[in-house]
Parts: sequence; structure tokens; C-alpha cells
Amino acid sequence: MKEWKLKKVIQILTACLVMIVVLNVSGISMKTIDINKKESKTNRRDSNLQMESETRETISRILNEQIQTELPQIAITFDDGPSVCTPALLDGLKERGVKATFFLVGENVETYPDIVKRIYEEGHLIGNHTYHHVEITKLSDEEAMYEINKTDELIAAITGQRVQYIRPPFGVWQRELENYLDVLPVMWTVDPLDWTTENIDEVVNKVVPQAKENDIILLHDCYKSSVEAALRIVDLLKAEGFEFVTVDKLILE
Ligand SMILES: [Zn+2]
Repeated sequence: MKEWKLKKVIQILTACLVMIVVLNVSGISMKTIDINKKESKTNRRDSNLQMESETRETISRILNEQIQTELPQIAITFDDGPSVCTPALLDGLKERGVKATFFLVGENVETYPDIVKRIYEEGHLIGNHTYHHVEITKLSDEEAMYEINKTDELIAAITGQRVQYIRPPFGVWQRELENYLDVLPVMWTVDPLDWTTENIDEVVNKVVPQAKENDIILLHDCYKSSVEAALRIVDLLKAEGFEFVTVDKLILE
């Protein structure tokens, strides 16, 4: 049994325990109902029935809250876009009601501003992936800041929002830059190396069996095979009960 399923069973058992305690505190035990029947006092019985109904509603609300709010969350992220493959991905995510995170390359933002606008308008989170897709640590601080700030400005000109998150290309980050820039680096926990293969099954099988709560999946929306793999991953993990969220939700919670 997966860890989150076990957690849910424990939560439901806890909710049942709460139900028993609430019933006893409210005096709606079988004994009380028997006594009431014997006494045949209509108004008292009505009052007890109302209390019982209210208690049932409370219990039902507690159980519903437990079930609805405790889906295991997971994030799917896309680097290197936008590209000509991105619109098909956006269509698929929209159909499935899924929000993703896109770490955009500045050069591509300039080439496909309409796609950036669409990513933003459809509720996905946008992050920075530098202007030229460069390894930050190989640059001077000034060059690195130029790469990040230029991309940030290009995105902000389209969305009206400053970018808060960066995924440094190749996963290499220069911590000192956080002294000058108001950005948070976001890495990943599941990397199927989708850019090395066109085999969709291979990518899907490297992600789905190992996916767990709070994982951040790394893919690239500049390959048709990656887009198809992403949508299959979403379908399979949703069927397993995962809720897809943008990375800020995982980092802030
Ligand atoms: Zn990249």
C-alpha cells in the first residue's frame, strides 16, 4: 500500500473515532433514544432528532474534508520552451484540468510571445531558465544576472508579473546570486532524461512507477515525444489519485 493511501485510511479511521465521540457528547446514544421512546415526549424527541441530523451533517463534512483535501500532490515541470510543441501540450493539460510549471528560455520567449501569453492565461506557473540556456557557474556574476534579468523582463512584458522561480540550466546554481536577485531556485526529483529518447513508453515507465507525493517531474516541451509522454504520465498518475499542482504549492506548503 502506498504511503499516502495508508495515511488516508488512518485519517478516515480518525474521522470515525471523532464521529463516535461526537455522538456520545451529543447524548445521541442508543440508550438515550430508547429512553426518549419510553417517555414519548414529542418535543424532546424532535429536538434530539434535530441534534442527530446536525451531528450527521458535521460528521459527513469532516469525512468529506478529509477525503478531498488530502490527495497526494505532485508537480510536472517543463524546461527549455516555449516551442512549436508547446500548444499541443497546453491543449492536453487544459483538457485534463492540470496546471504545470514552465521554465522558459529568454530567446524562445522572444520567438513565441503568444505561447507565453497562453501559458500564463491558462493558469500555469512560469519560471526563468536563463536567456541563452547557459550554465550559470561558468559566467561572471554580471553575465549571470544579465541572463536572468533579461529573461525576467521579457516574461514580465508579456504577463505583467515578475518571475519568482528559476531553474538553472543543468541544475547548477550560484547561491551568491540570491543576494542580488529575488528568485528561488527550483530543482527536480524525477528526471526520465526525456531528451535522450523518442520512445514514449520508456519516458512514461521511468516516471510513473517511482512517482511519489511531493515529487517534481522534469520534462521538456520542445519534443513531440515528451509532450505525448507528459500527457500519459498525467493520465496514469491522476488515475492513481495524484493531484497536479504548480511547484510554488509544493515549496510553500
Ligand atoms: Zn534546460
